[in-house]
Amino acid sequence: MSAALIDGTAIAAQFRAELAVRVERLKERGVVPGLHVVIVGEDPASQVYVRNKALASQKIGMHSQVHALPGTTSEAGLVDYVKRLNEDPAVHGILVQLPLPRGLDSRAVIEAIAPDKDVDGFHYMNVGALVVGEPAFYPCTPWGVMKMLEHEGVPLSGAHAVVVGRSTIVGKPMALMLINASATVTVCHSKTRDLASVTRQADILVVAAGKPALVGASMVKPGAVVIDVGIHRMPDGKLAGDVDFAAVREVASRITPVPGGVGPMTIAMLLGNTVKSAERRAGFGASMETRIT
Ligand code: NAD
Repeated sequence: MSAALIDGTAIAAQFRAELAVRVERLKERGVVPGLHVVIVGEDPASQVYVRNKALASQKIGMHSQVHALPGTTSEAGLVDYVKRLNEDPAVHGILVQLPLPRGLDSRAVIEAIAPDKDVDGFHYMNVGALVVGEPAFYPCTPWGVMKMLEHEGVPLSGAHAVVVGRSTIVGKPMALMLINASATVTVCHSKTRDLASVTRQADILVVAAGKPALVGASMVKPGAVVIDVGIHRMPDGKLAGDVDFAAVREVASRITPVPGGVGPMTIAMLLGNTVKSAERRAGFGASMETRIT
């Protein structure tokens, strides 16, 4: 059996097209959704990510501004900068690109972002809302995975979902979202014993370990849905994930490729959160996701 591909590029394009319509509707009311990205220092990878976020915003008619601050910026200076953005009514989403230069406490900076503009979903208020299953801004990568599973019609209620990875930005929020969707969830991490015996039980396997080709065919139950969050630039210059794609494709029923899987969904969710924020500000009803319990 060769698994069907879950085409993140196509799903994200469809989602962005829907967002473009919502942006037009806001513009008719005189509101242009604005995503403001703050970057500190010169990290080249971060500069690429920031540029991509700005370009994607502009393509759907949103306003996007990059605030490039020098690497010498102090934590207090950065917090003040973020607070000024909080107060600007034209700013609907604020994202501080991580990692920050050494010496700056990213948690202190994230907590300075107004929770209703925290489109990355990292503020404690939004994390807490996810824990209790209330509407909020949810972290974009795991939320993108949920949207993919929804798009594919993968039944989650009662399914056994195994998440490999427990990071704050992917693994943990992923597990919470799956619990809130009534899956039975097991979380694995670097200290898990006999990883394969756990992953083999998964109806849905989400891998976010940051280890190339960690998951091989013998670790996957036949017919499982496999979502590969990992991204690695391999020595040959190609991108690869945490899953041995060619081998696992022969066992799984559906699988995400890398590139073209989870990656495009992440930015689409960021745009979605910013549009949602602008809709709330403009007084549009039912703009947050419905409650999940
Ligand atoms: P991280 O390093 O913060 O966390 C990795 C997690 O995997 C940890 O909890 C660790 O315990 C676990 N882990 C590591 N080795 C393991 C092993 N051998 N067995 C079981 N668990 C193991 O990484 P992260 O930020 O969560 O990112 C994970 C991967 O996803 C990376 O490749 C990253 O580049 C990618 N990523 C992709 C997107 C996207 O948009 N597609 C977004 C964020 C992260």
